[in-house]
Amino acid sequence: MTAIVGIRYLVTSGAFALATRIRHPGLYHGRARQMRREIGWSLASAAIYGIPAGVVAWGWQARGWTRIYTDVADFPLWYLPVSLLAYLLAHDTWFYWTHRWMHRPRWFRIMHAVHHESRPPTAWAAMSFHPLEAITGAVVIPALVFLIPIHVGMLGLVLAIMTVMGVGNHMGWEMFPRALVHGPAGRWLITATHHERHHAAYRGNYGLYFRLWDRACGTDLGLGSFGGSDAAIHRRDRAVGGRPDD
Ligand SMILES: [Zn+2]
Ligand SMILES: [Zn+2]
Repeated sequence: MTAIVGIRYLVTSGAFALATRIRHPGLYHGRARQMRREIGWSLASAAIYGIPAGVVAWGWQARGWTRIYTDVADFPLWYLPVSLLAYLLAHDTWFYWTHRWMHRPRWFRIMHAVHHESRPPTAWAAMSFHPLEAITGAVVIPALVFLIPIHVGMLGLVLAIMTVMGVGNHMGWEMFPRALVHGPAGRWLITATHHERHHAAYRGNYGLYFRLWDRACGTDLGLGSFGGSDAAIHRRDRAVGGRPDD
């Protein structure tokens, strides 16, 4: 399972890094060292993500654990999109609160500074987490499959959305159309433009898929903008007490 997660990361991040090269040549110029670091942390995270996923996949197959089902007729058809939304909302809630907690200064230094060392992140930063942070992310889906019934196909879709949004939100440019990002849907959905602001400002925009918790808790900073100069980013880092330099 670790190999699957690692390869999934390399293929997806590699594809988006290539798309970046085509769409925005030079965006990652001079950041080879940063990208090497992002890949190193991400592969370590992939190893960690693989452990609970592997145990649960084995338990599902060999022992009949989990509430994953394979026969679509086991639940009404309307339950398919409902289960998808339930997983995304549950994951988003877990992510928001653990992420917000990791921004408390003590825990930030221990667990979350690694992720914010990427200023701004690249497509390779999707899983660039300290191992302790990776553990908080690795347990979510393996725990949810014991709680919320889901068709195996929908579970695949949850993992695909998780992977694509994880990479897309860090690659330094917006892949979704302006009409979506700046329209009514964008008021509730998180894409790169929203998460970029988290990496620029640190305090706020903590959500993963939806802006629900950020809006409810007053931590929504609104949409960001791309292309801040290195000097501006470093100034901001010092102002908010992030790591001043590598
Ligand atoms: Zn991030
Ligand atoms: Zn953060």
